[in-house]
Amino acid sequence: MTLYDEALALLSELIRNQCVNDYTPGSGQEIRNAATLEKFFAGENVQIQKFEPAPGRTSIAVTVPGSDPQAQPLTLLGHIDVVPIDEAQWTKPPFDAHIEDGKIYGRGSVDMLFITAAMATATRNIARKGGNKGTVTFVGVADEESRGALGARWISEHEPTAFSWENCLSETGGSHIPGADGHDSVVLYVGEKGAAQRRLHVHGDAGHGSTPYGRDSAVAKIAEVAKRIAAIKPEISNSPEWHGFVDAFRFDTKTEELVRSGTDLSPLAELAAFGDAISHLTIAQTVIRAGQAINVLPSHAWIELDIRTLPGQDDDYVDSLITKALGELADEVHIEHLISEPAMTSPTDTKLYHVLEETLLEIFPGATVVPTIAAGGSDLRFARNLGGIGYGFAVHAQQRSLGETYAQLHSHDEHLYLEDLELTVRGYDMVLHKFLY
Ligand SMILES: [Zn+2]
Repeated sequence: MTLYDEALALLSELIRNQCVNDYTPGSGQEIRNAATLEKFFAGENVQIQKFEPAPGRTSIAVTVPGSDPQAQPLTLLGHIDVVPIDEAQWTKPPFDAHIEDGKIYGRGSVDMLFITAAMATATRNIARKGGNKGTVTFVGVADEESRGALGARWISEHEPTAFSWENCLSETGGSHIPGADGHDSVVLYVGEKGAAQRRLHVHGDAGHGSTPYGRDSAVAKIAEVAKRIAAIKPEISNSPEWHGFVDAFRFDTKTEELVRSGTDLSPLAELAAFGDAISHLTIAQTVIRAGQAINVLPSHAWIELDIRTLPGQDDDYVDSLITKALGELADEVHIEHLISEPAMTSPTDTKLYHVLEETLLEIFPGATVVPTIAAGGSDLRFARNLGGIGYGFAVHAQQRSLGETYAQLHSHDEHLYLEDLELTVRGYDMVLHKFLY
């Protein structure tokens, strides 16, 4: 059996186990995927640890110790939960690991079970081969999809020394940006945006709906707040990640300037929303509440903002942005902080980054590797919180654009080209051989 065959068999079983995380503590039941992985490593020369912060919410760590304590360790964080499906929207069976026309269909096939399967397969190959100087740990992580409270966050807070967080790999990346001149650029994720969730409260006069005369309306006020927040134009990033992303499209000078300055993102086509997200802080107004009954004036109204920050934009920066936009209304608005997690990037002058870049360039000779920031979060932020570095690593065939793979995340009929599984297994095997020996 080739490594690819092993990875495909494992991926199929991980999909069939249906570890659907619906964000409730009792869902996920990753104990099934953890058991599959334990069986996958049975009889191998590895050390196994399991973590179960809540019943059935199992993560599993499999370590192949290295012979040289001075050699840098490597940790592969592969989440084993998947997001829920809207069954009516699927035209293929979502949990059968159904293969058709060179593609495998199933929830989690792209996010991120194929990478998890590739990581586990490459790790087992090292265990069988032996002689590695550096220690490698593969972790099948629960609960990534609801921000890791019963997975990577829990392990990093309660058992931070169970394995090394110094050099970590996780989702995603390895898809392509085709340049206007045909030049191939490969995306390598080096960081991710932060979260700065806010709830803005306003107050008004309570009273009967039949006599609104002279009453201060909480509803009118929150509507005005929403309008002013919507008008915020966050400043465009000057980071090398944003500039490198735009450069990869190889636009003519005029178009490049329009995109880079955020004036017109339409040349990015299907990647306009992604480009918008990584070029500046974003504010999505997602929840608004006021009132209970149609004949009662509410005394309180609030709105929730899903704010995603770039590196360097802290809580004070976010609050000042909001306050400035509210103008004189700011005195009447209370800003409540919900989840706050800073954006973080890992440096590109590290041994691990160089190994990833070298690997991608061996697979795609002549391409350019583009270090990019992810719009959403991953388990890598826990490694970065503990002082480690982390990158998103996978390998997709050259015709797979970033826009296409991005559209697969959490989508109906989620599917992966088997060719991309083969490339990602090969990529991880190469990375492990380069980094650990
Ligand atoms: Zn994921």
